[in-house]
Amino acid sequence: MQRRPAGHRPGANNYVLIVFDSCRYDSFQRARPRVMKKLGRVERRWSYASWTSPSHFNLLMGLLPHTSPRNVFASEFYTKDFLKYNERLGLSDIQFQSLAPQLYLPAFLKESLGYATHAMVSLPVLNPRTILNHGFDTYRLMPAHNDMRAMVREMKFSEERPSFYLLNVGETHYPYALPGEPPEEWPRIHGVHGVFQHLHERVVGGKVRGHGEKMFNQAKLDLLRDRQVAAVRYLDSVVEELFAAVPPNTYITITSDHGELFGEDGYFGHGPIQHEKVFEVPFLEGKLR
Ligand SMILES: [Zn+2]
Repeated sequence: MQRRPAGHRPGANNYVLIVFDSCRYDSFQRARPRVMKKLGRVERRWSYASWTSPSHFNLLMGLLPHTSPRNVFASEFYTKDFLKYNERLGLSDIQFQSLAPQLYLPAFLKESLGYATHAMVSLPVLNPRTILNHGFDTYRLMPAHNDMRAMVREMKFSEERPSFYLLNVGETHYPYALPGEPPEEWPRIHGVHGVFQHLHERVVGGKVRGHGEKMFNQAKLDLLRDRQVAAVRYLDSVVEELFAAVPPNTYITITSDHGELFGEDGYFGHGPIQHEKVFEVPFLEGKLR
């Protein structure tokens, strides 16, 4: 007989954390996703970081985007916020202290609760050689940076042990391209696209005024914003496939790692930007049935 992993909890939920990379809260709302809203109310929350790597590290510490509560100490907020994992995992004895000393959700789920832990990521900055790949049974950089459907088709759930999946979804990341769109038809932003061919995340963002050269025009930025909205609308149909594929005892969180600037105050993208819109993200979660 197969030996059950230490700490295995019968009846624990599968947990799927979906991160729409760069998806702004208002892009998400403008798309009016019909299927995703079955999870629960869409909240406006705040990312702890303005770009992909630190934000995913934070998410994998178990700290999901926050509500920016007033009149409370950070430690109190973490403690209270973390109790939500009892609902997510279908358990009752999880506390923030449960994660110590590693403070890393995949390692905790795998080593203490017997979860199978998997990540499928779209952005090369999160590739499997990074430090983020800790505590995962499998961790893959997907062949295409914009194909969530390919991830959904590879998800497997076992009755023997609960599963945790991190899905980093790239359709909502610049250039907001859907899988069927030929790269030569992607909109090009001077100074960004050439580097983006290597998906070199660090330079996708920054202040665009004041260099004597007008790099962006607002009409083009509005087009880009519309493309992000269209990507969310498309992803709603992919999430419908996901909902049909997951077992009943699956809890799902959908959020973003940071927002995106489309010309506000002279900024485009995310990263080295201090602006409200780079921290504002959508957040919704729940169990389907
Ligand atoms: Zn990102």
